[in-house]
Amino acid sequence: MAKVSINIKQGTIQKTSEVVIGIDLGTTNSLVAYTREGKTVVVKDESGKHALVPSILYFNKDKSVTVGDEARKMLALDPANTIYSVKRLMGKSFKDVLDFEQYFGYKVIDEDTDSLVKVMVGDKFYSPVELSAEILKALKLRIEKELNATVSRAVITVPAYFNDTQRQATRDAGKLAGLDVLRIVNEPTAASLAYGIGLDPEESKTIVVYDLGGGTFDVSVLRIQNGIFEVLSTNGDTFLGGDDFDRLLVDYWIEINARNKEQTIADKKLSQAMRLMAEKAKKSLSNTGQFKEMINDMNCQISIETFNKLAQPIVQKTIDYCKSALKDAKLGVADIDQVIMVGGSTRMKLVKDMVADFFEKPVNDSLNPDEVVAIGAGIQADVLAGNQKDILLLDITPLSLGIETVGGLMDTIIPRNSKIPIKAARQYTTSIDGQANLKVSVFQGERDLVEHNRKLGAFILKGIPPMAAGLPKIQIEFIINADGILTVKAKELRSNTEQEIEIRSQFGLSDEEMAKMLLDSIKHAESDMNTRALLEARNEAQNIVLSTGKFLVQNAGILSDDEKSQTADLAKQLAETIKGSDKDVINKAMEVINEYTTPLAQRALEHNISIALQGKNINDDAS
Ligand code: AMP
Repeated sequence: MAKVSINIKQGTIQKTSEVVIGIDLGTTNSLVAYTREGKTVVVKDESGKHALVPSILYFNKDKSVTVGDEARKMLALDPANTIYSVKRLMGKSFKDVLDFEQYFGYKVIDEDTDSLVKVMVGDKFYSPVELSAEILKALKLRIEKELNATVSRAVITVPAYFNDTQRQATRDAGKLAGLDVLRIVNEPTAASLAYGIGLDPEESKTIVVYDLGGGTFDVSVLRIQNGIFEVLSTNGDTFLGGDDFDRLLVDYWIEINARNKEQTIADKKLSQAMRLMAEKAKKSLSNTGQFKEMINDMNCQISIETFNKLAQPIVQKTIDYCKSALKDAKLGVADIDQVIMVGGSTRMKLVKDMVADFFEKPVNDSLNPDEVVAIGAGIQADVLAGNQKDILLLDITPLSLGIETVGGLMDTIIPRNSKIPIKAARQYTTSIDGQANLKVSVFQGERDLVEHNRKLGAFILKGIPPMAAGLPKIQIEFIINADGILTVKAKELRSNTEQEIEIRSQFGLSDEEMAKMLLDSIKHAESDMNTRALLEARNEAQNIVLSTGKFLVQNAGILSDDEKSQTADLAKQLAETIKGSDKDVINKAMEVINEYTTPLAQRALEHNISIALQGKNINDDAS
């Protein structure tokens, strides 16, 4: 099966292997690693001291972007223009992040929709993919400086629980940063590779990866057999980590100094200083038994015994998640061969002791817990570069496979570099009332618009029973067998209508053609991304215009004349923006109409509910 490498600068196929980099794209910090002469190292900053790049972006007045330590300094000074925790938004719709919207100091645009989240900075809208690409660009730059050469191929890690959309978003971010993402690797898989587990194909092991960072906790149970990593279960909490210990310390100091909590927290300068002091205390307590410093006249003192007492319930929570992970994997502690520690907070002795106690064995903590994932990514990258000959590389799909969706967009169902055999499916629906046929066009390639990709075939799913638009559930399934033959099936799940084709010509491309397609996708990543964003904004706006029309008809009796004409005007203005080609203008118009109609929709809903409670039929009333 094909394994192609290309030289981005020259546009030629690479015969000799160029370095492939490993990236740990984290929620709080990111790192980049590579392998030289068999040794994998993380790249440090110019001072040679710090490997961590804070995953924080600051938008300067001129709209240029600063990433890392400098951006971190702006968090307290200019929160509206400082973006952090982008990873929490990757591949998420606004509905997905509703629960923790207040957690962000910046503006996540608040449409109550299923469409992907956007972040508003000034008058511009950015997708999490674009924002993550900025972090990746900074890491790429850092390693290029170190190596004094350009790099173009990477492995990027993601949490084991990341779904398809989140993985695809991470891939897209890599592409936008000018990187050919050879593989998306699970963070626990990378961590075990860093400890040398899984490099020997003969070896068979079951391990636990315990990852306690600054703001998140993940535990994964993995089975490694014949060089294949299988995630048996994952568990955790996306809002539990080192920050919680910091908060406990701040609360403790407020208490022993007999201060008023609300007043102290409201003093932004003081509370920020205390938070930083708490982090310092926590780190220093890892080495000594006692901490004592002053902030003005405030005594910031604590012993390790007291700190452990405060921290114990939080660590116990993580142990409870470990219990659940074992239960889901249907295993007991005796089945676990090794426990690997990842994340800065696992430096705490209390954490190591409680985890070792629970699993009844010493934990693996010899590597720097901040660097484990990046080092594993660097090892995987080196394997993919072909530098570790004795390691088995499984057959992979050389280019992404997907179908055409509204507006000529490519929707990838099996991403490039997936191991085969593989089966993947996605659900779609119709866009017109009573639609009886659906054309399924299958494409291969990395570009966002199908017209730039290679068409492999098409068929029509006929006989969908008449239903309103959006109601049919059409499942498109791609199956690639061990011989690399692709079968595409389409099935309407409500009526069981089914159709399928087999495509044999998947690998009818020469290495040169394949390399050219990859090269084009990276070269055009930015313009493709803009086109996709524009088409998506237009589709979304079109749907809003249509649903607003329906809403006005159905609720004519509830709305005042002024509300009706205002809503109709806003819909008209939105329809106007669709004709233009500025996605930000369309997005803004959607924001405006959503803001105006949300209370009206709420009122209509309450009205309909009260009528239903009186025993009347909603449909009769609405028609
Ligand atoms: P990570 O997200 O993996 O980079 O972990 C960062 C978290 O680890 C932060 O909450 C740090 O305060 C915490 N951390 C780093 N070093 C130590 C240490 N020596 N003791 C306790 N916590 C630490």
